[in-house]
Amino acid sequence: MSVFSHPEYDGHEQVAFHHDAASGLKAIIAVHNTRLGCGLGGCRMWPYASDAEALNDVLRLSRGMTYKAALAGLPQGGGKSVILGDHRKDKTPELMLAMGRFVDQFGGKYVVAEDSGTSVADIHKMAEVTRHIGGLADAASMAAGRNGDPSPATAYGTFVGLKAAVKHRLGRDTLKGLKVAIQGVGNVGYRLAQHLFEEGAELWVTDIHFPSVDRAVQDFRARAVSMEQIFALDVDVFAPCALGAVLNDISLPMLKASVVAGASNNQLAEARHGKMLMERGILYAPDYAINAGGIIEIYHETHGYDESKAKAHLDSIGSVLTQIFDRATAEKKPTHEIADRMAEERFRP
Ligand code: NAD
Repeated sequence: MSVFSHPEYDGHEQVAFHHDAASGLKAIIAVHNTRLGCGLGGCRMWPYASDAEALNDVLRLSRGMTYKAALAGLPQGGGKSVILGDHRKDKTPELMLAMGRFVDQFGGKYVVAEDSGTSVADIHKMAEVTRHIGGLADAASMAAGRNGDPSPATAYGTFVGLKAAVKHRLGRDTLKGLKVAIQGVGNVGYRLAQHLFEEGAELWVTDIHFPSVDRAVQDFRARAVSMEQIFALDVDVFAPCALGAVLNDISLPMLKASVVAGASNNQLAEARHGKMLMERGILYAPDYAINAGGIIEIYHETHGYDESKAKAHLDSIGSVLTQIFDRATAEKKPTHEIADRMAEERFRP
């Protein structure tokens, strides 16, 4: 399996494969770029169909972390790790200890946090053998009632970013009467709905989990629609808060919204869909810029939490997006291209 000629290889500083026979651990750690600080990123445990699929994921995700942290103004680089296995069947304390020892070999160049398939408990287990751990709230943040859950901050940051997008595209300062369609009312989507409702927006929601829809209908007078209808509604904003690759050849022709601003990761199925959005006059808030609230919050929770500093940092998501939109308009370029360039200006010498 090649790494340097891999399509997802992007000058990554270090990629390491590890097998621990005693615990059965098979894992990969990729550190993309540490120019701004250690490569922070979650540890994903997933039953990958092949080693190649795991490598693809870790290369892509670690690169994404560098861009997200740089644009969020964090003194951090990008890294990620993957454990090849089914978190429901294969997870053991020995496996997590072995993963912790693997993380420790990086001497702080890679700092691990939770991700899909790993939990705070797993990170605590790793912390028994390495101190290179992110995402565990420090004493100051616990005293302030924080618990390491990034979702409220992600939702707040998305709300701030959505407002910046609405201001830029529709020239509106108030959300009163703004029509917003939210796809997915889980941890982030539900809280985003709450912020929007409190500012007078009208909401339409969908989710594959019906009790979540009922809760949003009840709590925020949202209107429930089917999973297919959510794209074609005559609304101002489409807010994807469920899946990746949601902006694609099928969904784009249906969209009537003039703003796409939501928390989902990897919203563009392919980069060309960013260009398609621009050509259709739809303002796209790049996913890793608008959903950075979680990593911003985690950074503050692990560096002597100060509520007003954390809040100011979350609020800066709005100004970062405004800069992206202004540059994209001036240069007639898709917003995701400008976001990438702004991030690169920060982490590339
Ligand atoms: P979640 O699992 O709590 O919520 C996602 C919701 O989407 C669930 O209620 C699920 O039932 C629903 N859903 C799944 N498939 C759907 C479909 N086809 N149509 C409609 N609804 C569907 O996850 P979350 O933490 O709220 O995260 C939402 C998105 O934001 C994810 O893409 C996640 O990667 C991204 N994100 C989350 C955070 C965070 O702090 N939680 C940070 C950055 C990015």
